[in-house]
Amino acid sequence: MKASIITVGDELLSGERLDTNSQWLGQYLSNHNVEVRRILNTADHLGEIEQALRAALNEEDLVILTGGLGPTNDDRTKEALQNLFQIPLTRHEPTLAHIKKYFDQKNRKMTESNYRQADVLSNCEVLFNETGTAPGMWFEVEGVGLAVLPGVPHEMKYLMKERVQPKIERLKSWMDRRPVAIYYLQTAGVGESTLSDEVLPDLPGYESDQIKIAFLPHPGGVSIRVNAYGESLQKARNKAEPVLSYIREQASGHIFHEGREHSLEGVLGELLSDSGKRIAVAESCTGGLLLNTLTDVPGSSAYVEGGIIAYSNEMKKRHLDVTDGMLVEHGAVSKEVALQMCRAAAARSDADIGVSTTGIAGPTGGSADKPVGMVWIGYWSVNEHFAVKANFTKDRLINKQKSVAVAMDLVRRRIQGIESTPYALQLQYH
Ligand code: ATP
Repeated sequence: MKASIITVGDELLSGERLDTNSQWLGQYLSNHNVEVRRILNTADHLGEIEQALRAALNEEDLVILTGGLGPTNDDRTKEALQNLFQIPLTRHEPTLAHIKKYFDQKNRKMTESNYRQADVLSNCEVLFNETGTAPGMWFEVEGVGLAVLPGVPHEMKYLMKERVQPKIERLKSWMDRRPVAIYYLQTAGVGESTLSDEVLPDLPGYESDQIKIAFLPHPGGVSIRVNAYGESLQKARNKAEPVLSYIREQASGHIFHEGREHSLEGVLGELLSDSGKRIAVAESCTGGLLLNTLTDVPGSSAYVEGGIIAYSNEMKKRHLDVTDGMLVEHGAVSKEVALQMCRAAAARSDADIGVSTTGIAGPTGGSADKPVGMVWIGYWSVNEHFAVKANFTKDRLINKQKSVAVAMDLVRRRIQGIESTPYALQLQYH
């Protein structure tokens, strides 16, 4: 649980009075497992108090404000609360009776301002104050707890221990059980840092205690998880909506699915089935992983023709019509060979789409112009053919997995008519 402390009083800012309330509260809350994130002193100024409250209520689970509750004109806390909640004051009769008794005992006559001391916000739960004349107030605003306490240190401490502490415990146990709406947006073809820094640069602005956003990378892509908390599931969902809209808008081409499941091959399978297209593959560096992944999907026989695993140059020449000229002039890891491979895979199987992979999986075998991790992925269909170059990692298995993911994502983008963007793993199109 996260908290802010706000102490009100000109005398705290001018140095006339040391802010011992914050020190005590900081210690008390820490001892009760509440993390105090901010302490703010504000002047007895209406606008400043309101602004401080507004900001703290937006960011924390718990806000404790002390001071400015008295009946004198320089005490502005109640007025600030009225402005904040747009709710009138009401006279709290048990508190008034308590104040009257106090004045009777001292044989003093009550003034109008003493009566006003019993006024509280009508949406609060009164924290009855036996130790003084100013009652405290407790509010719950969309699941955030707000305690407004008198500035007098011993009164504040009493109310904190006797009245506020049980409420904090209740809030804590509710927070553990509070409704949370969880969303997953599955992306492919874009790395985690590019996604967060370039595609979704404004996302940190949406993060708060009510909204938590996580990027979860895996070999096939990056899952974006959004958790939204609220008093009810509906309120949590409403809080998530602007974040989800922003992500959907900015990352539209990269999102292949919304939901926990992140099987790109499953989504691609549906797209291929629905479009009635059949696919064939020609694999070098992925050694059959692409075909293996495509056929992990039940029912994939509806759209997978098959593939040729041509690891050696001989196999590439014999089964995919790669020529000696291509190999000598461009090398096996090249645009020309990738294009020939996917073209041959489709032609030999009569598939609508051919996809190929040829690259340097590593950890050895790289050179200055063809480093480890460099992979060409070819795409062929009747209407278009192209190859993309990707530079992955130094890790052999990760390179194979990423090659498969990018190959599948390319096909997905083509079927969905998404113009691939330069973000896609900094792929180069040729
Ligand atoms: P009251 O109705 O009793 O006046 P209040 O909520 O209006 O209560 P203040 O008038 O702000 O409180 O302060 C009451 C007394 O408590 C003053 O002597 C003030 O200096 C002291 N006080 C207020 N805030 C703090 C603080 N943060 N730390 C230490 N003393 C404080």
